[in-house]
This record gives sequence, structure tokens and C-alpha cells, in this order.
Amino acid sequence: MTKFEALGLQKSLLDAVADLGFETPSEVQEKAIPILLESETDLVALAQTGTGKTAAFGFPLIQKIDSNSRTTQGLILSPTRELCLQITKEMQAYSKYERNINVVAIYGGASITDQARQIKRGAQIIVATPGRMKDMISRRLVDISKIDYCILDEADEMLNMGFMEDIKDILSNTPNEKSTWLFSATMPREVSVIAKKFMHSPQEITVGAKNSGASTVQHEYYVVGGRDRYPALKRLADTNPDIFSVIFCRTKRDTQKVAENLIEDGYNAGALHGDLSQNQRDLVMNSFRKRQIQMLVATDVAARGIDVDDITHVINYQLPDEIETYTHRSGRTGRAGKSGISMVLITRSEQRKIRAIEGKINQKFELKKVPSGSEICGIQLHHLANKIKDTETNSDIDSYLPAINEILEGIDREELIKKLISAEFTRFSNYYNKSKDLNSSDNGRERGERSERSDGRRGGETPTSGSVRYFINIGEKDSYDWMSLKDFIRDTVGLDQDDVFKVDVKESFSFFNTDAAVTEKILSTFTEFKVDGRFVNVEVSKNPGGGGGGKRRSGGSSFGGGGFKGKRNGGGRRDDDRGASKGRSRERGKSESPNSGKRRSQQRKGDFF
Ligand code: ADP
Ligand code: MG
Repeated sequence: MTKFEALGLQKSLLDAVADLGFETPSEVQEKAIPILLESETDLVALAQTGTGKTAAFGFPLIQKIDSNSRTTQGLILSPTRELCLQITKEMQAYSKYERNINVVAIYGGASITDQARQIKRGAQIIVATPGRMKDMISRRLVDISKIDYCILDEADEMLNMGFMEDIKDILSNTPNEKSTWLFSATMPREVSVIAKKFMHSPQEITVGAKNSGASTVQHEYYVVGGRDRYPALKRLADTNPDIFSVIFCRTKRDTQKVAENLIEDGYNAGALHGDLSQNQRDLVMNSFRKRQIQMLVATDVAARGIDVDDITHVINYQLPDEIETYTHRSGRTGRAGKSGISMVLITRSEQRKIRAIEGKINQKFELKKVPSGSEICGIQLHHLANKIKDTETNSDIDSYLPAINEILEGIDREELIKKLISAEFTRFSNYYNKSKDLNSSDNGRERGERSERSDGRRGGETPTSGSVRYFINIGEKDSYDWMSLKDFIRDTVGLDQDDVFKVDVKESFSFFNTDAAVTEKILSTFTEFKVDGRFVNVEVSKNPGGGGGGKRRSGGSSFGGGGFKGKRNGGGRRDDDRGASKGRSRERGKSESPNSGKRRSQQRKGDFF
């Protein structure tokens, strides 16, 4: 008997479970499914984002529906159109082996007549956003007076978005004797109000600690000058070439602006906010799901309920006003048991806010340094070398080869490699060499001096203070990714959670950093150290820069990396950190044009120069 079978699910649903590849029920599923199947009860289930709440209510609902009747029996309310569609799709997948179960989605921004027509054909289950649902009720296009089950999904988010009145209104059109199941990541006061008012002695399930963020999320903050947010953001992206992220801004205007700047600077970015038409929002979300957009810049409202797995980073470009909102933001990553990083860019005066969030979510933030230009160059160099290695050769070149060979004749392999890398890298390193230290510190140099004196060199020639970078001879081909390698090193050496950082996994080797204090411990542990009969060797890396962490992405944000295999939206990258101080715009003029112009043309050609 499988674990899902033990929960009491019928055969047709177990077949669907098998098709979905679910092997073990998540905690909330394990707790909720039997209760919901066995009794007619109200339920309040609190579980963080990404814990599988949809299936926790979806399977019991389908099992309890009478498919011989076409009456609407179940109503699922969810905060956003995106989520509504997602739940509908999941419900359809769960019920694929049921005969005659219709699940219909109802949401704003699409034809109400089409939706009404679908309802008319008979929908036992309706998944709806509150606004459109209310609209359809008042136009008598739906009848929910006979439902047996009402599910409030992501209740906290619905209430956050101001749907309280709509929900009350909708519920007043449903029969008293139905069961109400409320699912939520957090339990703010408004949710308790709804529970008290509309539910009858609900059973309660809590998974994990109430109100706490997902433990799979690591929280980091970076202290920068207020005008350095944008350049810092770029560096974070450049340090994580595989980034797949949501970037939160506070206003629609900032959201649009940051996205536009990123696109202009050559990143795969997109904006999601309320001023966009539904159609535009759909396009953006589709590109994001397909990974054509790697950096989705969004407002809190627009991002509610974004339900995309595998988001590696959430970046708080600005902190939200409400701590509750931070929980929602960071919950976009670390879903479905995966780990993720939530990064916060703050100014010095905001540091106390970090303490406040820590208290509330009961987790520690790590203070991190914005990587220096030379660290980023190190990462990007490795990235470039790997890209060259992984590039499939293009036979279209063949006919030109004799001529090319003639030009390159007499250059030996080593020299050729140097030239090849330099051709791309010099432009990049010119940019970062002239870049300053973006970290804002209390005891550091005076702020006014910063942009003049420290542009570039600082942190360039000198290794980052107290941190040592290592080379290790295992990598992707030994089935490590940055997370598992970090765990491996930490567990093997016996270090703490955050001692190993900037883990950068290549195909057959990797890099990582630790504090200089544990170098001896690292090196002695990995002396004559074998795994599966093979020596695992660690050396202090000669590469002065380096950094990273996060998986490599195929698109690459630098070097015209898009030219290798990824796709990029924008044209060339600007050779300047935006929003930087005035003294720097001088430098921009110097180095801008060669890079941007060239990159644009590279991209179209799709080969690597
Ligand atoms: P929540 O609503 O709690 O935020 P979801 O229901 O959206 O979470 O589930 C998050 C992801 O986890 C989805 O991609 C879903 O398909 C997947 N998932 C859910 N349950 C399981 C399971 N038992 N095993 C594996 N994956 C699961
Ligand atoms: Mg959900």
C-alpha cells in the first residue's frame, strides 16, 4: 500500500498521483486528506507556500464530488488569475481518470460570456477569483446556492489584497450547511475573523511554526547606498548567472523602471504590475514560466500567488512596509522542498528593520557583501570558459574555416585561448575594474570619497577580507549542485550552516569560500580524503576573485553570454552602473560603445563572437 493509498484516496486518484510523480504525501496532505475524506467538517490549514496545499484540498474535493450530477458542488476561491488558472490545471490533472468532472476557471480580464458558457455546460467545481465571482453572481451567471464545499485558498493573500468584502458577499450566496476549508500560509487577524464568522468549529492543522517563513529559504541582506541599489542588483545577478528570480519593488513606477533598465542592460527581465493589461501580464508570466525571463520585476500585488517552482532567488529591491509582506515575498522561493535565497538590499538606516523581520519570522539574516568587480570577473571568466567548452560547434562556419585559419595561423593554442577569452572579457573587466565597492559601512571610508578613490581597485587586488576561496575536484558530473555541495562540505568538515559560501559548481570541479579561520580545518579534512574510492582534493584557489553560488544559467548575463546558447531580450549591456555618482559618468563615455554595439550584433548571429 502506498502512502497515498493509506490516506484513503480512491484508485482513479491514485493513478493520477502516480502520473504526477508524487511519491510521498507532504505533511499538510498527510494531515488534511484523511480528515477531509472521513468527515464533513470545516477546516483551517496553515502551511507555508510550496507545501502542496492544492493537492491537500484538491484530491478530497474530487473524491467527494458526485460526478453524476452537473450541479456546482465545489467552489475554490483564490487570490489571483494566475493562481486560479494554476489550481484549475492541477484539479484537471488530479481528475484525469474521473469521468464527467468539469473544473472551470473564472477570473477577470477574460471574456465573461465564454466563462458563463463553460459554466452552463455543467461545472461541478469552479475555481474563481473573488472579483469576477461576485460579478457573475450578481449577473446570475453562476449558481452557488447548492455547493457542498467552499475552499478559501491562500486566504491571507486574498485578504491582503482587499477581498474581504467580496468574500463575505460570495459566502452569503452559499448554503449554510456546506463545509468550508480554509488554507493559508499565515494567520493574520483578518483570517481569524473570517474563520470565526463563517466557519463552524473548524478542525485545525498547522504545519511548521505559525507565521514563520519556509525554513528552506536562506535570508541575506546587503547594505548599500540608496543610489546604489540598481548597480548592486546587477552585481547580484552577475554573480549568479543561473539566477531565476522575482525582484520586488514597492511601486509600479520603480518596477517598470528597474525592469526597463535591466532589459536595456542586456538581462532577460520583465515587469509585472497592475498598470499592465491582462494580456501583457499573461505574456510576461508565460515567458517567466518558460524561463525566457530570468528576472521578473514585480509589485507585491501583482506577484501574489505567483506559483512558479524553482525560483532560485527572491530579491527585495526595497523592503516592504509590512513584515507579513516579506514572508509572502520570500515564500516565492524555496518551494516544494527546494532551497532558495531571499536577498534584501537596504540602506544603513534600514538595518533595524532586518532585526524586526528576524524576530517575526524567527530566522536569522546573514549580512553579505555585494561582490566586488574582480570577484564577478572571476565568476564570469569561469562561466565563459565553460560556455566555450559546452558550445556545440556550428557547421555553418565550415566553409569559412580555411580563411579563418589563414588569419589565425601561427598562433599557438595557449595564445589563441588567451586571445579568445580576452576578446570577450576585456570589455567586461574594463567595466568592473572601474567599478567601486558598493558596500555601505559605518567605519569605512567617507562616503563622499568613495566614488573617486575606490572605483574598482578596492576589493580587486586584495582578497575579500578574511574569506578564502578553494578549488575542489568534484562537480556537476558527480551529481552535485551548489546546494548539495555546500551540504557535503559542511557535513564532512563539521561546519555551521553558513560557513561555506559562494559555492560555484562547474562540470568537473567547483569553487567555494569559507572564512579564513576554518581554512586549516578544511585542508586537513580533505587530505587523503576519499569518496567511493576516489580522492577528493581541495586546494586554496589561486584565482584571487571568484565567488558565486547559485546554479549557472544557460543564458548568461555577461560577456554577451546570450550568444553562446541562451536567449536574451535586450541589446547590449550598458557599461555603467546606473544610478552611480556623477563622477563616474565620465568613465561611461569611455567604455560604453564597444560593448553594447558589439553585443547586439553577436546576439543575432547566435555564435559566440
Ligand atoms: P502551496 O499551495 O502550498 O503553495 P502547491 O500546492 O502549489 O503548494 O504545491 C507546490 C508544488 O509541489 C507543486 O509543483 C506541486 O505539484 C508539488 N507537489 C505537491 N505535492 C507533492 C507531493 N506529494 N510530492 C511531490 N510534489 C508535490
Ligand atoms: Mg497554493
